[in-house]
Amino acid sequence: MSHFVFPPLPAAHVARPLPRLSVVVPAYNEQEVIAETHRRLRAACAAVVGEDFEIVYVNDGSRDDTWPMLQEIAARDGNVVAVGLSRNFGHQLALSAGLELCRGERILMIDADLQDPPELLGEMMARIDAGADIVYGKRSERLGETAFKRGTAAAFYRVLDRLTDVDIPTDTGDFRLVTRPVLEALKQLPESHRFVRGLFAWLGFNQVALPYVRQERFAGETKYPLKRMLRLAVDAITGFSTVPLRAALWLAAIGFVVALGVGAYAVGSWLFFDTVRGWASIVGVIALFASAQLLCLAILGEYIGRMFMQAKGRPLAIVREVVVQASGQSR
Ligand code: UDP
Ligand code: MG
Repeated sequence: MSHFVFPPLPAAHVARPLPRLSVVVPAYNEQEVIAETHRRLRAACAAVVGEDFEIVYVNDGSRDDTWPMLQEIAARDGNVVAVGLSRNFGHQLALSAGLELCRGERILMIDADLQDPPELLGEMMARIDAGADIVYGKRSERLGETAFKRGTAAAFYRVLDRLTDVDIPTDTGDFRLVTRPVLEALKQLPESHRFVRGLFAWLGFNQVALPYVRQERFAGETKYPLKRMLRLAVDAITGFSTVPLRAALWLAAIGFVVALGVGAYAVGSWLFFDTVRGWASIVGVIALFASAQLLCLAILGEYIGRMFMQAKGRPLAIVREVVVQASGQSR
């Protein structure tokens, strides 16, 4: 029930039978790679499911020739759906818009820059055939990324793991194959700040990791400068943790201990040394009230955290299956 506004969909799109596989590809300023991406994606899909697939490209308000190129690809290739957003909304929302529209029985999410090899599709499909609901790519190695990017990413995933109760797998991105029931569950999460890989982790189901070597970008440069990475990190942490709101509680506890210490010291110096009159009481009172204020903030934090989580409007739990005896059978 996430909110996207779509124009009336082309009749030809609605009339198509539901494909076995959908591939959702967000693209922002990817004119250097998009033709090659399409060539390799199409070949990888055809190798696994024949012609029974659709590739949904979501143009995230590119400023270069990505959109005209996508329109041209869609005109040429009957398996392509080109979706153009009205402006740049960011990777996670572009991906979500594509997920909203795609119709396949299984859904592959992949970046447009060929860092995640489309040829792994066969192996991912095999894991789902073997009983998995979600197969996510786990980067065992990252080629062609700066030490800074690799370092910050590694640190980020570990901090995130510490802060959240949801088990968000480390070193994974949005390269992931899921089944339709999983996607339908995901679409019931209406929150607007979306950290998609975290949302999939939150859903549960039977999740399986597929280790792979993350390749160098085929061409062009990263669309995730530091500022966007930070925003993603904040979305991730606030999306799945209220731990930062509890920081005040720890500060209050520390402040209280300090207040006791300072109070004792102040009383001691008042008794045994010659101090300025009023010093002891002022220091003691300041320390005590500071920790009382922090305690109040911590209490507010607890309530705000609960309101915040409730405001996300997530379902309370997800029922994976319901089993009864097939009708007509005896006891
Ligand atoms: N992307 C997008 N909108 C944005 C930024 C990125 O749709 O505002 C797409 C981009 O085209 C690519 C994917 O998100 O398909 C991941 O971006 P990128 O490869 O630049 O990130 P990195 O791999 O460097 O983290
Ligand atoms: Mg990339």
